[in-house]
Amino acid sequence: MRELIDCHIHTERCGHAAGTVDECARSAVEQGLYGIALTEHLALPDEFDPDRNLSMPARELEAYLAEVQTARARYPDLKIVTGLEADFLPGREGQTAAALEQARARSNGATFVLGSVHFIGTWAFDDPSHVEAWDEHDADEAWREYFALWIQAAESGLFDVMAHPDLVKKFGHFPSFDPTQLYSECAAAAARAGVLAEVSTAGLRKPVGELYPGKALLGEFCRAGVRVTVGSDAHTPSEVGFMIDAAYDALAAAGYEVVMFPGVTGGWEEIAL
Ligand code: ZN
Ligand code: FE
Ligand code: FE
Ligand code: ZN
Repeated sequence: MRELIDCHIHTERCGHAAGTVDECARSAVEQGLYGIALTEHLALPDEFDPDRNLSMPARELEAYLAEVQTARARYPDLKIVTGLEADFLPGREGQTAAALEQARARSNGATFVLGSVHFIGTWAFDDPSHVEAWDEHDADEAWREYFALWIQAAESGLFDVMAHPDLVKKFGHFPSFDPTQLYSECAAAAARAGVLAEVSTAGLRKPVGELYPGKALLGEFCRAGVRVTVGSDAHTPSEVGFMIDAAYDALAAAGYEVVMFPGVTGGWEEIAL
């Protein structure tokens, strides 16, 4: 039997999700998962989160980290990793590094960090409440800008794993050009930087209806030797573990033999597919 993991989970603390750390952990236990990582959204600067509903307030960081510790003690048969999802905001790398450093100091150093590109400039292109903004943007340009940021993020050294690698396709916008070249540049950058990529099942419940990354980009990652984690990007306890089996199937089909699980005290554990 497969050991299933879910390395991308949110809680109500971010303002656009439901459920607590404990409820997410319980959902994972009920499904017999091997391990999970809680990855709440690290606080964004006000100008990126004006309504304060995209990320966890900075003042809640400590309580969140303590909740993960409590869940770990309460569910000893489930591996529970302390993590955060941090946005890549070009020009603010120093601030992000300092915030992550603070989080690490408060969690005995063991903090797993997902890196995400959710903004092109100040445009939150994946925000479902502003999907109409896509009408004013050119898909080709959005794709080029998105992947340029993605490569910068991968090379920044801030992150352990690049989350939902081709998120720009979320609402079904694809470029008119062949993206193969962009994909191979991404894979080469991740391989050079030693950063992992996430296979996210969230895309399966979004308009695009496919995994992030899609088959072609996943193939490039595999050829470049980029290791991968798997996550549901759950925003409710019931989404924990969402279609992880399908992600394992896609990984095996792409040529992968293992998926990586972040060690509770650092390092990586290989999980057979
Ligand atoms: Zn979220
Ligand atoms: Fe994200
Ligand atoms: Fe997320
Ligand atoms: Zn996410």
